[in-house]
Amino acid sequence: MDNGTDAAEGRQSEYALVLDGVRKSYGNREAVHGISLAVRKGEVFGLIGHNGAGKTTTLRMISTILRITSGSIQVCGYDVATEPDKVREIISYLPEDAGAYKDLTGRAYLDFISKFYTSGEAQKEMCGRGMEIADLGERIDSKVDTYSKGMMRRLLIARAVMPSPKLAIMDEVTSGLDVINAYEIRELIRDIANSGVTVVMSSHNMFEVDMLCDRVAMMDHGNIILMGTPEELKQKYNAENLEEVFVKAVKNNERSH
Ligand code: ATP
Repeated sequence: MDNGTDAAEGRQSEYALVLDGVRKSYGNREAVHGISLAVRKGEVFGLIGHNGAGKTTTLRMISTILRITSGSIQVCGYDVATEPDKVREIISYLPEDAGAYKDLTGRAYLDFISKFYTSGEAQKEMCGRGMEIADLGERIDSKVDTYSKGMMRRLLIARAVMPSPKLAIMDEVTSGLDVINAYEIRELIRDIANSGVTVVMSSHNMFEVDMLCDRVAMMDHGNIILMGTPEELKQKYNAENLEEVFVKAVKNNERSH
């Protein structure tokens, strides 16, 4: 990544991400019904909601993988529909089902991927940054197919973050991990955000989102039904935790339809 480019700096904007009236249809079925939100630079922003709510579809539109049906998405001032290449230079996307080449060691995998981005000293630096983020100790030299799920997730997060994106997009990043591994991954995401990277993540885990996210948006059937800091939402619904907020908000939403 060339730090002198417009894309590396991002256009002047207070926001890392702005969605305005975004819709997505698969054939004649609309999965996302005109959602709007804005994520400030440096925030950890959580998208929560039950299966099929539209979280992955939304993250894939932000990542330029899926074309939006209407509305607009801007990443650091760049439009995903008209400037997708600029957007791709400043984001990273980690899908829920991402994997790595199993025959490579962790080190060889990060080295291989970093060569897609840059070369020479910059490439060595990027790979070194990846190994630091992965923090796998001597297991960085073991083959990926010997990794536990937690180790694999650390490696994939390192891959996603080592190019220093402006916006890191992570889909269900702790799903399937045990308590300790999920805790460590949350710590890692906090560190990543503290280093200046904006993080947008989806999760089913309300506890996790409560611990980790500065703000959250709750999705239900393709709509955003609530948005705010975890504290604001708990106060508004007089609830002990986000799970209770979610249940109450979904019921309210059903009543109003
Ligand atoms: P989960 O938590 O299960 O991953 P989600 O909130 O990420 O769910 P999406 O995967 O975005 O939800 O799905 C939203 C809706 O769009 C669902 O009704 C789903 O069936 C539908 N959908 C997703 N992908 C496609 C596709 N390629 N073709 C048709 N419909 C799709």
